[in-house]
Amino acid sequence: MVLTETVPTAAPPAHEGILRRQSLRESAARTYARALPIVPVRARGLTIEGADGRRYLDCLSGAGTLALGHNHPVVLEAIRTVLDSGAPLHVLDLATPVKDAFTTELFATLPGELAEKGRIQFCGPAGTDAVEAAFKLVRTATGRDGLMAFSGAYHGMTSQALAASGGAQHTSVVRLPYPYDYRCPFQTGGERGAELAARWTQSLLDDPKSGVSRPAGMILEPVQGEGGVIPAPDDWLRRMREISAARRIPLIVDEVQTGVGRTGAFWAVDHSGIVPDVLVLSKAIGGSLPLAVIVYREELDAWQPGAHAGTFRGNQLAMAAGAATLAYVRTNGLDRRAGELGARMLDRLASLAAAHDCIGDVRGRGLMLGIELVDRTADADATGARPADPQLAAAVQQACLERGLIVELGGRQSAVVRLLPPLTITDEQADAILDRLADALTAAVRTTPGPTGSSPTTMRGTSP
Ligand code: PMP
Repeated sequence: MVLTETVPTAAPPAHEGILRRQSLRESAARTYARALPIVPVRARGLTIEGADGRRYLDCLSGAGTLALGHNHPVVLEAIRTVLDSGAPLHVLDLATPVKDAFTTELFATLPGELAEKGRIQFCGPAGTDAVEAAFKLVRTATGRDGLMAFSGAYHGMTSQALAASGGAQHTSVVRLPYPYDYRCPFQTGGERGAELAARWTQSLLDDPKSGVSRPAGMILEPVQGEGGVIPAPDDWLRRMREISAARRIPLIVDEVQTGVGRTGAFWAVDHSGIVPDVLVLSKAIGGSLPLAVIVYREELDAWQPGAHAGTFRGNQLAMAAGAATLAYVRTNGLDRRAGELGARMLDRLASLAAAHDCIGDVRGRGLMLGIELVDRTADADATGARPADPQLAAAVQQACLERGLIVELGGRQSAVVRLLPPLTITDEQADAILDRLADALTAAVRTTPGPTGSSPTTMRGTSP
């Protein structure tokens, strides 16, 4: 059921006071809170209710964490069961029945040898800590130091994870081209663009004078999320698997955002059939609570006891909530559902793109969808695409919020409007999301001048 929003005439003081105190007391580095000045007090499924009484359809989902939406009954039940059992809530990395059940459920979903013979390391409870662990693991196992990562990547905010991300400035990580169809530097896009990107990677590794030595590992996202919702073609992923395997370079796949059904397969690597050497997992595996792990081939398990320690590696509530989430997605085929519904939503977004020339591209996989907004007045750049329009994207995000829809922005210039709804949404809810988005886009287009400031961005076929 789609809950309709209620708009009170004046926001209650509690709401405004909390927001005011937040802006006075919290760090300048705060993020989502800036564009989304809401004070969530209740939430269920797709819907969040603010302290001001307004209701929002939440397509941010905790940055892709909430596979089952907010407060799903199976998640609440799992948490209550642990609480009522008297089990300890803090256990460092000791064995517990809750952890045992989580690990069993997780392994049942994993691809190939990882399911049969994988090893798991519980990390500090953030995706970025699991990325650090993965780097440490492959460095120890290979005795090599360097890393290979991809343009546009996002792997987290700790120093090594950040160094492997696209925003890094001073780093020894070798940067490889990620197949970005819409902004293909080879101006071909499609399979050919991806193949040329793969050949570039191969030649860097095989040319003895490329200036690049064999790295300890290669890390990639099967769909770049923060980078702007860019799905890698399955063939390209298979090529990366071949290239890395042939040169004995451990392939680390970061499924922090793509995992647990989000892209239309349980793990995004399942689309291509590749089996990584290391899988980095977080977000949805904790069923809305903090949890992060790496799972890797046992041959890599050469690090010493304590090589990756941390106080908070035993969050029992997160393991229980996570196990319940994994089981629910698996038994209800929510990965398949995400694939089908995502494809239908993408079709509707394509129709929206046909009506708005400020939409450069719509893309995605499963329920990880993106709309790249561009300056329709500008000429195409070296990639053949028009420049991004972050100002319009910000206006669309605000117009969505006014219409009771929470969306995230991503992409190189924050010009990609991102949709990450829970996998549990109904067809009706999907329509409501897209109706509000279309309405918000039309409103933002009318009121936002183009980035050059010279002429307003318009709807295709309409006058300004
Ligand atoms: N990897 C990917 C692919 C991510 O999307 C993120 C977070 N958006 C991270 C790593 C880092 O996770 P965390 O914010 O929990 O550290």
